Amino acid sequence: MSSSIVSTPAPFNEAIGAFAPGSAERASLKTRLAALMDQQLEIPVVVGEREIHTGRVAESRTPHDHGHVLGRYHEAGEKEVALAIAASASVKSHWSAMNWEDRAAIFLKAADLLAGPYRDEINAATMLCQSKTVFQAEIDAACELVDFWRFNVHFMEQLYAVQPESADGMWNTMDYRPLEGFVFAVSPFNFTSIAGNLPTAPAIMGNTVLWKPSSTQTYSAWVIMKVLHEAGLPAGVISFLPGEGAAIGGPVLASPDLAGIHFTGSTPTFRHLWRTVGENIERYHSYPRLVGETGGKDFVFAHPSAHIQSLVTALVRGAFEYQGQKCSAASRAFIPASLWDEVISGMQEQMSRIKMGSPLEFSNFVCAVIDQKAYDKISGYIAHAKNSDDHRILAGGECDDSQGYFISPTLVEADSPQSRLMCEEIFGPVLTVYRYPDQRMDETLAEVEKASPYALTGAIFCRDRAEIKRMSMLLRSAAGNFYINDKPTGAVVGQQPFGGGRASGTNDKAGSIYNLVRWMSPRVIKETFAPPQDFPYPHMGED
Ligand code: NAD
Repeated sequence: MSSSIVSTPAPFNEAIGAFAPGSAERASLKTRLAALMDQQLEIPVVVGEREIHTGRVAESRTPHDHGHVLGRYHEAGEKEVALAIAASASVKSHWSAMNWEDRAAIFLKAADLLAGPYRDEINAATMLCQSKTVFQAEIDAACELVDFWRFNVHFMEQLYAVQPESADGMWNTMDYRPLEGFVFAVSPFNFTSIAGNLPTAPAIMGNTVLWKPSSTQTYSAWVIMKVLHEAGLPAGVISFLPGEGAAIGGPVLASPDLAGIHFTGSTPTFRHLWRTVGENIERYHSYPRLVGETGGKDFVFAHPSAHIQSLVTALVRGAFEYQGQKCSAASRAFIPASLWDEVISGMQEQMSRIKMGSPLEFSNFVCAVIDQKAYDKISGYIAHAKNSDDHRILAGGECDDSQGYFISPTLVEADSPQSRLMCEEIFGPVLTVYRYPDQRMDETLAEVEKASPYALTGAIFCRDRAEIKRMSMLLRSAAGNFYINDKPTGAVVGQQPFGGGRASGTNDKAGSIYNLVRWMSPRVIKETFAPPQDFPYPHMGED
């Protein structure tokens, strides 16, 4: 037992590699990519010390070449969920009683393992399984997850340091307990970093977690489990339960020990989980904490004073990087008539230079969308744009799923801010633009506010300071992450905590102290040093 008051190393954002031609990091990553292409992984369910091969297997394939099998994963079901709940209960007292600095050390070590010896593996797995370019994989799978682990440790320390005042004769303290029971972490396909953060943020705070990764991300999720194991995370703290949503979600949500849900994914799935928790509320030992970051219909609003080249570049990067499959991706834009021709021709010019294909070819800017379901949904929206009277395709619009799920970056003009493609989340490389009359700017800003149910990210482009201030206030509730003269994607842990309101989520700000607050249940302790010895108060004496 040590007798020191320690502090954790100051967190810093992991530097992003350039992977330039001829660099050592590029050569090393290519070697790892080739190795993963050459083998097929067998991924188990992990519960406590056990790696379980259930025999119910599904395949992980590369979206840009759907004939290529990267590996197979075993699917969990009701039996494995029951085992995971038992494993979680058996390790809980040990984990929650561990000194916080020892928990911190495990995640700081995981961060350094990921930044160093596992960097190629997590990047290569993410490039292949989620069809990300090297840059998109690096900023997500390596850098952002490293940042989550370093910064969450720092936030934990800050939280624990918050203690109440103490009047004379007493000592008041706060004991930051984890939640009673386990947390259910349910992660989406699109960010390896989010997949890693959802189970580990509650675990850092002393909770045990059942983690269900997305089926189309299980392959890279497995690398995270390997890193956590090597970092010394005790068995049972995080159970790894790949498989079909309802087959795992059903028995998990029926458990009286459910203490919280840490979710990122679509709005309908989160609403389903919330509804089920509501229906089961009598069963639970406590009120489960529900934290969910969900869908978006993220906007870019151009003021007539906008700098055109900055706007065009932000639209191209913001809408089409990672095939528009970022919750924060720009998917509706409002362009004043006075700038329209220049903005559209600028976009068409930049889009004509975009290369699409496999992430193994580093010059590609756009790869494939995640799976057949996504391809069908996105191409359905493009077909709607082609066939309806109130939309026109201005660039792109080609779809081809013969070898991979390829959809070319697509620019659509809509006649109304309320047209279907201006309001619904498409989650693909489709940007819908609306030309507004300059003199109707305020009516158009009101449409940005109310035409879509989401409120995740948004950006304005403007060079007039007074107008920046005014628009920012008019759009105050329209986005949880608001950008001025920048694209609405690319939030960095510790710099732009992430999350939105309305149909976009509970806005508990991943990558911040506000998220970690949700995973603890404080106990206040008052200790009195010289307690009173008799009951009467002074006012009760005789005059
Ligand atoms: P999804 O809702 O289809 O799936 C998310 C997870 O929920 C998956 O692991 C899935 O298997 C699981 N799931 C589905 N049904 C379930 C059930 N009944 N019980 C338990 N788990 C269940 O989402 P997705 O396609 O993986 O991700 C894309 C969505 O995520 C988009 O809507 C995007 O906007 C959103 N997203 C939001 C943020 C944010 O921070 N707001 C970040 C990333 C992604």
